[in-house]
Amino acid sequence: MADKVSYKELGLVNTKEMFTKAMKGGYAVPAYNFNNMEQLQAILTGCAESSSPVILQVSSGARKYANQTLLRYMAMGGVQMVRAMGSNIPIALHLDHGDSFELAKSCIDTGFSSVMIDKSGVPFDENVKVTKQVVEYAREHDVSVEAELGVLAGIEDDVKHEASHYTRPEEVEEFVKRTGVDSLAISIGTSHGAYKFKVKPGEQPPPLRFDILEEVEKRIPGFPIVLHGSSSVMPEFVDMINKFGGQLKDTAGVSEDQLRRAARSAVCKVNIDSDGRLAVTAVIRKCFGEDPKNFDPRGYLGPAREALKKVIIHKNEKVLGSAGKG
Ligand SMILES: [Zn+2]
Repeated sequence: MADKVSYKELGLVNTKEMFTKAMKGGYAVPAYNFNNMEQLQAILTGCAESSSPVILQVSSGARKYANQTLLRYMAMGGVQMVRAMGSNIPIALHLDHGDSFELAKSCIDTGFSSVMIDKSGVPFDENVKVTKQVVEYAREHDVSVEAELGVLAGIEDDVKHEASHYTRPEEVEEFVKRTGVDSLAISIGTSHGAYKFKVKPGEQPPPLRFDILEEVEKRIPGFPIVLHGSSSVMPEFVDMINKFGGQLKDTAGVSEDQLRRAARSAVCKVNIDSDGRLAVTAVIRKCFGEDPKNFDPRGYLGPAREALKKVIIHKNEKVLGSAGKG
């Protein structure tokens, strides 16, 4: 068991002030997932260079892949790196899709500044009960808590649902009141992974259900809303992957126009993971295709990291509006 440590000692912040500012400013804070050093460097330097607040996310898959203790120290090193660059952007370390009180507690005890407890797949009262338990523990440590109502389709590491069901606006008020949660992820048509919608080539994916979002906003005015599964599945990277031997067919994401509209609303946090995965994979494939003799990982991880950094800056500047707000 790792020693107990507060995120405050690590130079991290919780998401409360980030969301208050995002709500007032009509933008959304980006939440990017990381599993390794290159992703962490790209996310943090991209956010520092565009002066954006940032939420670093660790999923259960990341914990299995890279080890929770190592990830925590990496985040801590990341904060130091950013400060050495002369940047003071706020950085939160967030547990993505925590599935139990015990896991949320262990993250709070080891330096996370924010946790998600995702009980969206169980009945409402059970969701309320576990979320409330996490909120009570998090309060003692000034850690922020995100919960979810409604189910997103798609696959993200261990989180997998065949079908989605939209958030029921009539449930949100009671849920927020009974749990005391700080932010709420809702399901309005976004989806996890690179295959978000079943569309035929040339067809547009269905628009997000802004009517549900508006109904939610009416019932809990000024309350921070979170969108998961919000990658655009950027075609330039899908094309690059396929050009260099990959086989990604019929991919589809959420259009950047839709995300821009969401970011101006009560949506304060937007989760983007797949676009980063695609950028890294595309550039690595291109490097292998163009220079088959290279066997130095820096020769392909370096350019992949640079491409990911450009994606981060693009999202912050052109989609979420968070650039310049850090
Ligand atoms: Zn998610």
